[in-house]
Amino acid sequence: MSHYLFEPPAVFSLEVGGEARGYPLRRIFCVGRNYAAHAAEMGNEVDREAPWYFTKQVAHAVKSGAVLPYPPGTTNYHHEMELAFVLGAPVFCAGAAEAQAAIYAYGCALDMTRRDRQQDGKDSRRPWSLGKDVEGSAVFGPLTRAADFGAVAEQRIHLKVNGAVKQDASLAEMVWSCGEIVAHLSHYYHLGAGDMILTGTPAGVGPVRAGDTISGGIDGLAGVSLTLAAGA
Ligand code: MN
Repeated sequence: MSHYLFEPPAVFSLEVGGEARGYPLRRIFCVGRNYAAHAAEMGNEVDREAPWYFTKQVAHAVKSGAVLPYPPGTTNYHHEMELAFVLGAPVFCAGAAEAQAAIYAYGCALDMTRRDRQQDGKDSRRPWSLGKDVEGSAVFGPLTRAADFGAVAEQRIHLKVNGAVKQDASLAEMVWSCGEIVAHLSHYYHLGAGDMILTGTPAGVGPVRAGDTISGGIDGLAGVSLTLAAGA
């Protein structure tokens, strides 16, 4: 007999290239405005003092290839293509070099966003939860171990909607490096295995509609895709 009043949800895990076992996800942190060109298209400037964050619940994560309905509560659902990475070791109050060494693997991610609800939050100076923490809005491809991916440099990051290129940039455009992000965040959280960080999106974000297929990629990583069911 179970100890619980209802069956707990299964652990969400991602495939890792070359590993028989999956990477179980615990937390998802997302960096805002990490590409100057995207900050500009949203009418903002990049904050050069420090990176900043919002979060998504792991319960709202899905694997690449998912087919989901267009979400409720929005008429302006946007795609954001991002580099994600996960940690493999504890990091707390660390410097950038120690933080970088704790990165276990990289992957492609979609940070799907209710842009209208995010704007409501900005206008009312309230949290972005309804804009960002959307069911099915964190879409992840399989992970590639850091040792296999190599250094983040000038890899191309791109996204297509129904085959048409919408986002096309270089990871070299990131304002804050992965190590810098982890080091900064480690002054607020006891980070470690199970923690994922999304590193922000380049320019070219835009709306998607029911029936659209969104597919993204980064040189050297497995791609990510999401289909919004037609007529939903
Ligand atoms: Mn984002």
